[in-house]
Amino acid sequence: MSIEVSGLNKKFGDFVALDNVDVTIPTGQLTALLGPSGGGKSTLLRIIAGLEKGDSGTVNIEGVDATNLPAQKRNVGFVFQHYAVFKHMTVAKNVAFGLEIRKRPKDEIEHRVNELLKLVHLSQFSHRLPSQLSGGQRQRMALARALAVEPKVLLLDEPFGALDAKVRKELRDWLRRLHDDVHVTTVFVTHDQEEALEVADEIVVVNEGRVEQVGTPDQLYDEPANDFVMSFLGEVT
Ligand code: ADP
Ligand code: MG
Repeated sequence: MSIEVSGLNKKFGDFVALDNVDVTIPTGQLTALLGPSGGGKSTLLRIIAGLEKGDSGTVNIEGVDATNLPAQKRNVGFVFQHYAVFKHMTVAKNVAFGLEIRKRPKDEIEHRVNELLKLVHLSQFSHRLPSQLSGGQRQRMALARALAVEPKVLLLDEPFGALDAKVRKELRDWLRRLHDDVHVTTVFVTHDQEEALEVADEIVVVNEGRVEQVGTPDQLYDEPANDFVMSFLGEVT
């Protein structure tokens, strides 16, 4: 099983944001969409999520043709850089939100929320408001919230971009560990070569609306598909 994107095109006016993209993202892996700013990573992620529609092409998620499904029917969870947390709700309520709107039984919600807060090491902060958390803790809350509804796919768009280097590194390790615990198919967008190379099982290099290469970090290093991939990876500091 996998996420399969075929023949995907997307224009904004005359500007070609995605140019006939074909890519297969295998189930259960941690995959990075890596590339320079403006290359089309977010557009690709948003179309996979169902937040935006392609002009043509198809998106298949785990064997289901999702091309025309609305976001809420795709069984995906999101985390964005500036995640819209509910400021007036406690950490526990934020995490419970997706379960409450689905009218799950109260005791099930409580159990699940406790389990998730434990997973992201926020149990002792369950009654705090988001404003009483650090930036890193807030993004861990966002991760727990995205996982609450047990999505088949977790999508993250530069989730740690706004945080300072030390916290970013810490969250990077978190994402890796969380993924290894939960095994949910995860796709994250980053322009940071080091982040992708250190965390991802597989990397999809996206540039100027095209997929330049798909491979493991080793494959990208050992056999870059072209000059662009070689020089872009070479920019690791
Ligand atoms: P990335 O995430 O790789 O930085 P994006 O997918 O956000 O790139 O954007 C790709 C290109 O499409 C950029 O040049 C951007 O300006 C353009 N673009 C993205 N969204 C829109 C939009 N809603 N309207 C017009 N242009 C857009
Ligand atoms: Mg982006």
